[in-house]
Amino acid sequence: MRRKNDSMPHKIRTKNVVLYCIVVTILFAVALYSARMSMQQKNSSIALPDAEFQVHVLDVGQGDSILVIADGQTMLVDTAESDQADTIISYLKEHGITELDYLVSTHFHADHIGGFAQVLEAIPTKVIIDSECPDSLLPTTKTFERYLDAIEQSGAEYRTMQAKENFALGGAQVNVLAPDHNDDVKISNINNTSLVLDIRYGDAQVMLMGDAEEEEERQLLADSENHEVDFLKVGHHGSDSSSSEMFLQWAQPKAAAISCGVNNSYGHPAQVTLDKLANYTDDVYITAQDGDIVFLYDADTGTKQIITGSTAQGDTQ
Ligand SMILES: [Zn+2]
Repeated sequence: MRRKNDSMPHKIRTKNVVLYCIVVTILFAVALYSARMSMQQKNSSIALPDAEFQVHVLDVGQGDSILVIADGQTMLVDTAESDQADTIISYLKEHGITELDYLVSTHFHADHIGGFAQVLEAIPTKVIIDSECPDSLLPTTKTFERYLDAIEQSGAEYRTMQAKENFALGGAQVNVLAPDHNDDVKISNINNTSLVLDIRYGDAQVMLMGDAEEEEERQLLADSENHEVDFLKVGHHGSDSSSSEMFLQWAQPKAAAISCGVNNSYGHPAQVTLDKLANYTDDVYITAQDGDIVFLYDADTGTKQIITGSTAQGDTQ
Protein backbone atom coordinates (compact mmCIF):
# COMPACT_ATOMS: atom_id res chain seq x y z
CA MET A 1 0.00 0.00 0.00
CA ARG A 2 2.67 2.41 1.05
CA ARG A 3 4.81 1.80 -2.01
CA LYS A 4 1.80 2.36 -4.23
CA ASN A 5 1.00 5.61 -2.38
CA ASP A 6 4.61 6.73 -2.76
CA SER A 7 4.73 6.23 -6.51
CA MET A 8 1.63 8.39 -7.20
CA PRO A 9 3.00 11.70 -5.84
CA HIS A 10 6.24 11.04 -7.72
CA LYS A 11 4.32 10.78 -11.00
CA ILE A 12 2.42 13.96 -10.21
CA ARG A 13 5.68 15.70 -9.32
CA THR A 14 7.22 14.68 -12.66
CA LYS A 15 4.14 15.91 -14.48
CA ASN A 16 4.36 19.26 -12.66
CA VAL A 17 8.03 19.66 -13.51
CA VAL A 18 7.32 19.00 -17.20
CA LEU A 19 4.41 21.48 -17.15
CA TYR A 20 6.59 24.05 -15.39
CA CYS A 21 9.31 23.63 -18.02
CA ILE A 22 6.81 24.12 -20.85
CA VAL A 23 5.38 27.28 -19.27
CA VAL A 24 8.86 28.72 -18.67
CA THR A 25 9.88 27.95 -22.26
CA ILE A 26 6.76 29.66 -23.63
CA LEU A 27 7.26 32.72 -21.41
CA PHE A 28 10.90 32.92 -22.46
CA ALA A 29 9.96 32.68 -26.14
CA VAL A 30 7.32 35.42 -25.77
CA ALA A 31 9.81 37.67 -23.95
CA LEU A 32 12.46 37.11 -26.62
CA TYR A 33 9.95 37.83 -29.42
CA SER A 34 8.74 41.06 -27.74
CA ALA A 35 12.32 42.21 -27.22
CA ARG A 36 13.11 41.60 -30.89
CA MET A 37 9.94 43.40 -32.02
CA SER A 38 10.70 46.46 -29.93
CA MET A 39 14.29 46.47 -31.23
CA GLN A 40 12.97 46.32 -34.79
CA GLN A 41 10.64 49.23 -34.08
CA LYS A 42 13.47 51.25 -32.60
CA ASN A 43 15.68 50.50 -35.58
CA SER A 44 13.03 51.21 -38.17
CA SER A 45 13.96 54.90 -38.62
CA ILE A 46 15.91 55.29 -41.79
CA ALA A 47 18.32 58.08 -42.60
CA LEU A 48 17.94 58.82 -46.30
CA PRO A 49 21.02 59.48 -48.39
CA ASP A 50 21.27 62.83 -50.16
CA ALA A 51 19.55 62.78 -53.53
CA GLU A 52 18.57 65.66 -55.80
CA PHE A 53 15.32 63.99 -56.76
CA GLN A 54 13.14 62.22 -54.20
CA VAL A 55 9.62 60.83 -54.31
CA HIS A 56 8.13 59.78 -50.96
CA VAL A 57 4.92 57.73 -50.96
CA LEU A 58 3.80 58.30 -47.37
CA ASP A 59 2.22 55.59 -45.26
CA VAL A 60 -1.15 57.30 -44.66
CA GLY A 61 -3.56 54.38 -44.39
CA GLN A 62 -6.28 54.13 -47.04
CA GLY A 63 -5.51 57.22 -49.11
CA ASP A 64 -2.69 58.98 -50.94
CA SER A 65 -0.06 61.53 -50.02
CA ILE A 66 3.14 61.83 -52.01
CA LEU A 67 6.01 64.21 -51.44
CA VAL A 68 8.26 65.12 -54.37
CA ILE A 69 11.52 67.00 -53.84
CA ALA A 70 13.70 68.23 -56.70
CA ASP A 71 16.77 70.38 -55.97
CA GLY A 72 15.18 71.46 -52.70
CA GLN A 73 11.88 72.51 -54.30
CA THR A 74 8.88 70.69 -52.87
CA MET A 75 5.53 69.43 -54.08
CA LEU A 76 2.96 67.49 -52.05
CA VAL A 77 0.50 65.49 -54.15
CA ASP A 78 -2.70 64.73 -52.18
CA THR A 79 -3.33 64.92 -48.46
CA ALA A 80 -5.10 61.62 -47.62
CA GLU A 81 -8.05 61.48 -45.17
CA SER A 82 -8.37 64.26 -42.57
CA ASP A 83 -7.23 61.97 -39.73
CA GLN A 84 -3.86 61.64 -41.49
CA ALA A 85 -3.15 65.38 -41.60
CA ASP A 86 -0.96 65.30 -38.47
CA THR A 87 1.06 62.38 -39.89
CA ILE A 88 1.68 64.36 -43.09
CA ILE A 89 2.55 67.59 -41.29
CA SER A 90 4.99 65.77 -38.95
CA TYR A 91 6.56 64.00 -41.90
CA LEU A 92 7.16 67.28 -43.72
CA LYS A 93 8.58 69.00 -40.64
CA GLU A 94 10.83 66.07 -39.75
CA HIS A 95 12.23 66.26 -43.26
CA GLY A 96 12.98 69.96 -42.82
CA ILE A 97 10.11 71.17 -45.00
CA THR A 98 8.45 74.30 -43.61
CA GLU A 99 7.09 75.57 -46.91
CA LEU A 100 5.67 73.92 -50.04
CA ASP A 101 6.24 75.19 -53.55
CA TYR A 102 3.24 73.20 -54.82
CA LEU A 103 0.30 71.51 -53.17
CA VAL A 104 -1.52 69.35 -55.72
CA SER A 105 -4.87 67.58 -55.43
CA THR A 106 -5.29 64.85 -58.03
CA HIS A 107 -9.09 64.71 -57.58
CA PHE A 108 -11.78 65.56 -55.06
CA HIS A 109 -12.32 62.36 -53.05
CA ALA A 110 -11.88 62.53 -49.27
CA ASP A 111 -8.95 60.07 -49.24
CA HIS A 112 -7.01 62.59 -51.38
CA ILE A 113 -8.18 66.00 -50.09
CA GLY A 114 -9.28 65.12 -46.52
CA GLY A 115 -6.16 66.57 -44.86
CA PHE A 116 -5.83 69.51 -47.29
CA ALA A 117 -7.17 72.30 -45.06
CA GLN A 118 -5.03 71.28 -42.06
CA VAL A 119 -1.86 70.84 -44.14
CA LEU A 120 -2.40 74.17 -45.88
CA GLU A 121 -2.90 75.89 -42.54
CA ALA A 122 0.27 74.38 -41.06
CA ILE A 123 2.60 74.62 -44.08
CA PRO A 124 2.73 77.87 -46.08
CA THR A 125 2.22 77.05 -49.77
CA LYS A 126 3.03 79.06 -52.88
CA VAL A 127 0.90 77.38 -55.56
CA ILE A 128 -2.16 75.12 -55.31
CA ILE A 129 -2.94 72.97 -58.33
CA ASP A 130 -5.95 70.76 -58.87
CA SER A 131 -7.77 69.09 -61.70
CA GLU A 132 -10.19 70.59 -64.16
CA CYS A 133 -13.41 68.78 -63.16
CA PRO A 134 -16.72 68.87 -65.07
CA ASP A 135 -19.48 70.57 -63.04
CA SER A 136 -21.61 67.43 -63.19
CA LEU A 137 -18.93 65.50 -61.25
CA LEU A 138 -18.12 68.11 -58.58
CA PRO A 139 -18.80 66.63 -55.14
CA THR A 140 -21.28 68.16 -52.71
CA THR A 141 -19.48 66.84 -49.63
CA LYS A 142 -18.51 68.79 -46.50
CA THR A 143 -14.90 67.80 -47.22
CA PHE A 144 -15.04 69.52 -50.59
CA GLU A 145 -16.62 72.65 -49.10
CA ARG A 146 -13.85 72.79 -46.51
CA TYR A 147 -11.34 72.31 -49.32
CA LEU A 148 -12.65 75.28 -51.33
CA ASP A 149 -12.79 77.48 -48.21
CA ALA A 150 -9.18 76.61 -47.36
CA ILE A 151 -8.01 77.64 -50.85
CA GLU A 152 -9.85 80.92 -50.62
CA GLN A 153 -8.45 81.76 -47.20
CA SER A 154 -4.88 80.76 -48.03
CA GLY A 155 -4.08 83.52 -50.48
CA ALA A 156 -1.94 81.03 -52.43
CA GLU A 157 -1.84 81.11 -56.22
CA TYR A 158 -4.46 78.68 -57.54
CA ARG A 159 -4.41 76.86 -60.88
CA THR A 160 -6.50 74.08 -62.39
CA MET A 161 -4.73 71.90 -64.91
CA GLN A 162 -5.39 69.27 -67.53
CA ALA A 163 -3.53 67.23 -70.13
CA LYS A 164 -0.67 68.82 -72.10
CA GLU A 165 0.21 71.38 -69.42
CA ASN A 166 3.48 71.29 -67.50
CA PHE A 167 5.53 73.13 -64.91
CA ALA A 168 9.01 73.01 -63.40
CA LEU A 169 9.93 71.77 -59.93
CA GLY A 170 13.64 72.54 -59.44
CA GLY A 171 15.36 70.68 -62.26
CA ALA A 172 12.41 68.37 -62.72
CA GLN A 173 9.73 68.78 -65.36
CA VAL A 174 6.20 67.86 -64.29
CA ASN A 175 3.98 66.96 -67.25
CA VAL A 176 0.24 66.61 -66.82
CA LEU A 177 -0.77 63.68 -69.05
CA ALA A 178 -4.46 63.51 -68.12
CA PRO A 179 -7.35 64.21 -67.77
CA ASP A 180 -8.07 65.39 -71.27
CA HIS A 181 -11.18 67.55 -71.56
CA ASN A 182 -11.41 67.86 -75.32
CA ASP A 183 -14.89 67.40 -76.83
CA ASP A 184 -14.43 63.73 -77.75
CA VAL A 185 -13.59 62.63 -74.22
CA LYS A 186 -16.43 61.83 -71.85
CA ILE A 187 -15.49 61.34 -68.22
CA SER A 188 -17.95 59.22 -66.26
CA ASN A 189 -16.41 59.04 -62.82
CA ILE A 190 -14.52 61.46 -60.58
CA ASN A 191 -11.60 59.00 -60.25
CA ASN A 192 -11.00 59.59 -63.95
CA THR A 193 -10.56 63.33 -63.40
CA SER A 194 -7.32 62.46 -61.54
CA LEU A 195 -4.30 64.51 -62.55
CA VAL A 196 -1.82 62.00 -63.96
CA LEU A 197 1.67 63.40 -63.45
CA ASP A 198 4.71 62.32 -65.43
CA ILE A 199 7.78 63.69 -63.65
CA ARG A 200 11.20 63.70 -65.33
CA TYR A 201 14.52 64.49 -63.74
CA GLY A 202 17.67 63.63 -65.70
CA ASP A 203 17.05 60.12 -66.96
CA ALA A 204 14.66 59.29 -64.13
CA GLN A 205 10.94 58.99 -64.84
CA VAL A 206 8.24 58.81 -62.18
CA MET A 207 4.52 58.57 -62.80
CA LEU A 208 1.80 59.38 -60.27
CA MET A 209 -1.61 58.05 -61.30
CA GLY A 210 -3.96 59.39 -58.62
CA ASP A 211 -7.04 57.15 -58.79
CA ALA A 212 -7.09 56.96 -62.61
CA GLU A 213 -8.95 53.89 -63.85
CA GLU A 214 -8.86 52.13 -67.20
CA GLU A 215 -11.10 54.81 -68.78
CA GLU A 216 -8.48 57.49 -68.07
CA GLU A 217 -5.53 55.18 -68.81
CA ARG A 218 -6.85 54.96 -72.40
CA GLN A 219 -6.25 58.70 -72.79
CA LEU A 220 -2.54 58.13 -72.20
CA LEU A 221 -2.09 55.63 -75.00
CA ALA A 222 -2.33 58.35 -77.64
CA ASP A 223 1.16 59.33 -76.51
CA SER A 224 3.17 56.80 -78.48
CA GLU A 225 6.55 57.71 -76.99
CA ASN A 226 8.41 54.76 -75.48
CA HIS A 227 8.07 54.89 -71.74
CA GLU A 228 10.12 53.18 -69.09
CA VAL A 229 8.74 54.38 -65.82
CA ASP A 230 11.32 53.93 -63.05
CA PHE A 231 8.77 54.37 -60.29
CA LEU A 232 5.01 54.10 -60.77
CA LYS A 233 2.57 55.22 -58.06
CA VAL A 234 -0.08 52.68 -59.05
CA GLY A 235 -3.58 54.03 -59.79
CA HIS A 236 -6.48 53.79 -57.33
CA HIS A 237 -4.71 51.95 -54.49
CA GLY A 238 -4.10 48.85 -56.63
CA SER A 239 -7.80 48.34 -57.42
CA ASP A 240 -8.73 45.97 -60.26
CA SER A 241 -10.39 48.87 -62.11
CA SER A 242 -6.94 50.36 -62.75
CA SER A 243 -3.58 49.14 -64.14
CA SER A 244 -5.02 47.64 -67.31
CA GLU A 245 -2.73 45.42 -69.35
CA MET A 246 -2.54 48.01 -72.16
CA PHE A 247 -1.54 50.72 -69.74
CA LEU A 248 1.19 48.60 -68.12
CA GLN A 249 2.52 47.68 -71.54
CA TRP A 250 2.66 51.37 -72.38
CA ALA A 251 4.30 52.39 -69.07
CA GLN A 252 6.74 49.45 -68.67
CA PRO A 253 7.14 50.08 -64.92
CA LYS A 254 10.47 49.05 -63.37
CA ALA A 255 9.16 49.52 -59.81
CA ALA A 256 5.74 50.23 -58.37
CA ALA A 257 4.25 51.60 -55.16
CA ILE A 258 0.71 51.00 -53.94
CA SER A 259 -0.77 53.24 -51.25
CA CYS A 260 -3.47 51.55 -49.15
CA GLY A 261 -4.51 50.82 -45.58
CA VAL A 262 -3.95 47.63 -43.60
CA ASN A 263 -6.96 45.30 -43.97
CA ASN A 264 -8.90 47.98 -45.86
CA SER A 265 -12.55 47.21 -46.61
CA TYR A 266 -12.03 47.54 -50.39
CA GLY A 267 -9.65 44.59 -50.57
CA HIS A 268 -6.94 46.85 -52.08
CA PRO A 269 -4.65 45.92 -53.66
CA ALA A 270 -6.45 43.41 -55.90
CA GLN A 271 -4.58 40.16 -56.46
CA VAL A 272 -5.17 40.48 -60.20
CA THR A 273 -3.34 43.85 -60.17
CA LEU A 274 -0.41 42.39 -58.23
CA ASP A 275 -0.24 39.51 -60.72
CA LYS A 276 -0.20 41.91 -63.68
CA LEU A 277 2.48 44.10 -62.09
CA ALA A 278 4.59 41.00 -61.42
CA ASN A 279 4.91 40.53 -65.20
CA TYR A 280 6.90 43.78 -65.32
CA THR A 281 8.76 44.02 -62.05
CA ASP A 282 9.64 42.22 -58.82
CA ASP A 283 9.83 45.57 -57.06
CA VAL A 284 6.25 46.18 -55.97
CA TYR A 285 5.88 47.94 -52.63
CA ILE A 286 2.73 48.45 -50.56
CA THR A 287 2.50 51.11 -47.85
CA ALA A 288 0.30 48.83 -45.70
CA GLN A 289 3.23 46.39 -45.49
CA ASP A 290 6.34 48.43 -46.20
CA GLY A 291 5.55 51.77 -44.52
CA ASP A 292 6.84 54.85 -46.34
CA ILE A 293 8.23 54.11 -49.81
CA VAL A 294 10.93 56.45 -51.10
CA PHE A 295 12.42 56.60 -54.60
CA LEU A 296 15.78 58.37 -54.75
CA TYR A 297 17.71 59.55 -57.78
CA ASP A 298 21.25 60.82 -57.48
CA ALA A 299 21.84 62.91 -60.59
CA ASP A 300 25.66 62.88 -60.30
CA THR A 301 26.05 59.13 -60.26
CA GLY A 302 22.75 58.27 -61.99
CA THR A 303 21.96 55.94 -59.06
CA LYS A 304 18.30 55.07 -58.55
CA GLN A 305 17.19 53.33 -55.39
CA ILE A 306 14.10 52.64 -53.32
CA ILE A 307 14.07 52.68 -49.53
CA THR A 308 11.15 51.62 -47.37
CA GLY A 309 10.34 51.83 -43.68
CA SER A 310 9.43 54.39 -41.12
CA THR A 311 11.34 57.28 -42.69
CA ALA A 312 9.21 59.83 -40.91
CA GLN A 313 11.34 59.39 -37.79
CA GLY A 314 14.65 59.47 -39.64
CA ASP A 315 16.86 62.52 -39.94
CA THR A 316 17.26 63.13 -43.60
CA GLN A 317 18.59 65.33 -46.39
ZN1 LIG B 1 -8.34 57.14 -53.55
